[in-house]
This record gives sequence, structure tokens and C-alpha cells, in this order.
Amino acid sequence: MTNSLQRDLILSKWAAPRAERADNARTEGGCLSRDEALRLIEHADLGELLRAASTSRDRGKGRIVSYSKKVFIPLTHLCRDYCGYCTFRTDPKLGVAAYMTPDEVLAVAEAGARAGCKEALFSLGDQPERIFPEAGEALRRLGYERTLDYLAAMTELVLKETGLLPHANPGVMGAHDLARLRGSNVSLGLMLENVSPRLKQRGGAHWRAPDKAPALRLRTIEEAGRQHIAFTTGILIGIGETLAERVDSLLAIRRLHDEHGHIQEVLIQPFRAKADTRMAGAAEPSFEDLQQTIAVARLIFGPEMNVQSPPNLVADDYPQLLEAGLNDWGGISPVTRDFINPEAAWPQIPMLAKRTAEAGFELKERLAIYPEFARRAEFVDEHVRPFLSRHLDAGFYARAS
Ligand code: SF4
Repeated sequence: MTNSLQRDLILSKWAAPRAERADNARTEGGCLSRDEALRLIEHADLGELLRAASTSRDRGKGRIVSYSKKVFIPLTHLCRDYCGYCTFRTDPKLGVAAYMTPDEVLAVAEAGARAGCKEALFSLGDQPERIFPEAGEALRRLGYERTLDYLAAMTELVLKETGLLPHANPGVMGAHDLARLRGSNVSLGLMLENVSPRLKQRGGAHWRAPDKAPALRLRTIEEAGRQHIAFTTGILIGIGETLAERVDSLLAIRRLHDEHGHIQEVLIQPFRAKADTRMAGAAEPSFEDLQQTIAVARLIFGPEMNVQSPPNLVADDYPQLLEAGLNDWGGISPVTRDFINPEAAWPQIPMLAKRTAEAGFELKERLAIYPEFARRAEFVDEHVRPFLSRHLDAGFYARAS
């Protein structure tokens, strides 16, 4: 069989509707295989790949592209990791508070609520108290031992006082932390980034980043599945990984999702070189590379998965990412900047709606938990359910405010 014939067969087979895919899986012993995914990411004609991915997305999601209106709460910038691309993290600094206070957290959340946000996205550094005594002292003054203890208290505070729905991204979490955060978050997240242990070698993107050990991150994602937590994860592309490692990372997420059914979104994020980081001079992935990876992710996960890539990291070209089969723009804030990528402004929501419509899609607001998970009782803690219900419309998207 020629390479191009093989490729055509792969593309048509995996863009198929669910029933046919299930037939393929039964008769061919699984979903898109590693070899097939590798052939697509390494050799597929980009136009053909995008068409197959778009067809798959349309079959599962129609022409709806979702986003979440969020306010960003950077609880602490302290982090025990030193990822080579990060501008979010800091070491303790004299005269700079280590953590936001409860009053500051509430003030930001209330500003978000007034602006119509429904999601409170808590992003923070990973376990700073394990290496910085200053972090431990600041936590004790606030009445807590660990950052994750303080986070659980703050997500509960925001839920109760503002009705915003927390979604926390605090890094690696153990079973106990996940269970506690489940009681005040509608969903949780942890980027897998990549499964390659190579990236942890001296000088690599994850050198001096103990929490970026792939096994630790996979364990957190798996435990979230055991606990029925709607979970957001994904990969960061262009940080020194090979295409095979990208595919392996997506397949690792798929394996966990196949087992637990809890992955609500797969995010494909392009690396951006930022001044004052170790990787300031590293090459960024091209737009086509990003499209190719999104498309392969769509075909690996199939029509039903929510595939996201942020519109603010590709400047004005972002509507063309829709051609690669994504169906979500992620969280957009009308209030706070993107603290992870402070150089990249989010598009205004009316402009996002206009550009999305011009590309032939309808922009629709979702909550921090996707409709297919919001409707399932086992994925929402009883304590959170009444707060969630206030924001839901009949289709389990965000109720118009
Ligand atoms: S990317 Fe996350 S884990 Fe890595 S240094 Fe930044 S805040 Fe810490």
C-alpha cells in the first residue's frame, strides 16, 4: 500500500462518526494507533489533515465554539519549580506579599462577578513552602500549613461569597488534596505538558522543576479520574520535545480518559519565548505546527472531546485554528490580564464572537465545567451543585446574565 493511500485511509477512518469509530476500534483492536498518529503528525498533507480534523469536530460538536468568561486569581506567584519558559513564577522578594489575602481574593472575584464572569480561575505556583521558609511563614500567618490548604479555603470562600465557580490549577495534587478541592471546585486542571523525561535533563525546559516529572503529573490526572473530577489537561508544544513525544503525551492522556472518562478538555498550547527566561532565545512552534498538532489531537481523541487552544497566543490568525478541529477558546477574561502570558492580551469577547462567526461558527459561553459533565451527577460535588445550577441554562451551557 502506498504511503498516501495509507494516509487517506487513516484520515477517513478516524474522522468518522462515533458508531463507525467504535466499529473501527472493535475490528482493528483500538483507536488511532501510535503508528497512525505518528504518520499523520510527521507526513500528512496539512490541508488533508485539517479537513479530516474539521469533519471530526463538526460531527461531535457541530458549529458551536465555546469559551468561559473567567476572572483570573493568581493566589501566589511563588513556585518551587523553575520551568525554562515561565514568567509567572517568582522567588520571595522583600516587601512583596507572598500570597493574596482573603480580602484581595474576594475583591478580584467580586469585580469578575460584576463583569458577568462565572468562572474563578485560580492559578498559582507549585508548593513554594517546600523550599521557601518565607512561604511557610506567610501561610502560617494566614492560618494554614500548605498552599493547597489555603487554596481550598479560598476556593470555598469565593464559591460561597460570590457564587463564581472555582476552577483551580495548582500543580501536582495528591488524593487528599483532590478530594478536598472537589468540594469547592466545579473542575480542576493540570497541564501534562509532555511525558518526556528528557525535558528534565540539565538545561531542558523542565530542568529544576520537580513537579514536572511526567509520572507525578499522570498520577494526579489518574487520581482525579478515580474521584470523578471533571479535569482539564493538555500539552505545551515546542519546548524541546520530538513529534513522537507529543503523540505519546496525547496518547497517555487518552489512556487515562479511556479508563476514567473524566477529561473534559485537551488543551494544545504553543510555547512562547519570553524575555528574562532561560528559553528567551528558543524557537517558537510555527502556526502550521500548532494547527498540525491540534488536528492530530482531534483525531486521536475523536469527535466528542473538547479541544482547546488559546486565541491570544497566535495574534490575529486565531480564527484559522478552527480549521484544525478545535471547538473551544478556553477562558477569556473581561477583567484581568493573562498572568501566564502577560504580553498577550485576550481578544474582547464581542470581537471573538464576530471573528468566530465570520469563520462560520457560533460562539457560546460555557461554564468551567463542560455541558457533558455538568449534566452528570457523579461529576459534581453535592456542595457545589446548587451554585452550579444557578448558572446553567437548559443545555448545560452558561445561562445568559
Ligand atoms: S510553569 Fe508553573 S510549575 Fe513551572 S515555574 Fe511556572 S508556575 Fe512553576
